[in-house]
Amino acid sequence: WQRLRDGLARSSSSLSQGIGDIFTKRKLDAATLEELEDVLIQADLGLTMASRIAGAVGKGRYDKTIEPAEVKAIMAAEIEQVLAPVARPLEIDASKRPFVVLVVGVNGSGKTTTIGKLSAKLVGEGRKVVLAAGDTFRAAAIEQLKIWGERIGAPVVARSQGSDAASLAYEAIEQARSEDADVLIMDTAGRLQNRAELMAELEKIVRVMKKVDAEAPHAVLLVLDATVGQNAMSQVEIFGRTAGVTGLVMTKLDGTARGGILVAIAEKFRLPVHFIGVGEQMDDLEPFAARDFARAIAG
Ligand code: GDP
Repeated sequence: WQRLRDGLARSSSSLSQGIGDIFTKRKLDAATLEELEDVLIQADLGLTMASRIAGAVGKGRYDKTIEPAEVKAIMAAEIEQVLAPVARPLEIDASKRPFVVLVVGVNGSGKTTTIGKLSAKLVGEGRKVVLAAGDTFRAAAIEQLKIWGERIGAPVVARSQGSDAASLAYEAIEQARSEDADVLIMDTAGRLQNRAELMAELEKIVRVMKKVDAEAPHAVLLVLDATVGQNAMSQVEIFGRTAGVTGLVMTKLDGTARGGILVAIAEKFRLPVHFIGVGEQMDDLEPFAARDFARAIAG
C-alpha cells in the first residue's frame, strides 16, 4: 500500500491543494461547495460522487468555516462507504476443478502482467495453476505469458499466433482437468479497434468453455488501467455486456493515475473489486481495501 499511497499522493496533491484553496479563509456556502464539486469531478470521481460528497460536507455547516482536513475526512468516509461493499476477495471455489478464470480488458491494460502476479499468489498458496495464452493475436503476448509461466512454475497452454482462441479455451480446460489443476487462468485479446470482432471472440470463448464445463468461466476479471481515466467507464460497460464480468482489477495505481475513477466505477456498477496493481513486479498486486484506498485518495 505504500506504493499506492505514493502514487495517489502525487496525483491527489492537486485535489488536496484544491480543497485547501477553496476552504481557507472562506465560509462554506453554495459557491464553495460548487467549487468543491468541480475539483472532485476533475479528480475523476464523477458527478454522483461529487454531489454526494459536497452534500455531506455542507450538511449543517452553511455560513461556518471548515478546516480542509475535516473536508478530507468527510470525503474519505463517503468514499469508503461506496467502496466497502465492492471490496471483495476473489474466491476460488475448490469444488470446481479447474476453477476457470477468464481475464479480459483492452490491450495494454495489464492483463498478462496481472495474470502473472495472480498466478504467483495462487501458486504461493499451494494451488496448482494452469495458464492459457488466449491472446492469440499477438506473438509477444503469448511469449510474455510463457515467461511468467516459467518463472512461477505453471504450465502454459499455447498455440501459434493467429490460432482460434475458443478452441484453445477448450483444449486448456481439458488439459487443466487432466493435470488435476485447481485453477485455470486464460488470457484474451483486447483489440478495441475492432470491437465487434473482439466481442464475438469473447462470446465464442465463453460458449466453448460451457461445452466442457457448463458453469465455466467461474470468474471473469476485467483489468482496467487507472491512467485512462474516464475511458475505464466505457470499458466496464462494453466488457460487462459481452463477457459477463464478475469482478475488476485496476492496474497502474502506482503511477500518475488519479484513482478517483475506481470510486466512480464502484458507485455506478457495484462490481466487486478484487485487486489493485501497484507496479510491474510479481508481488505488486494487492487485495483491494476500501479504507486504505479512500484515505489515499482523500490525501
Ligand atoms: P496487456 O496487453 O493487457 O496484457 O498488458 P500487459 O500485461 O502487457 O501490460 C502492459 C504494460 O503495463 C506492461 O509494460 C506492464 O509491465 C505494465 N503494467 C501492468 N500492470 C502494471 C501496474 O500495476 N503498474 C505499472 N506501473 N505498470 C503495470
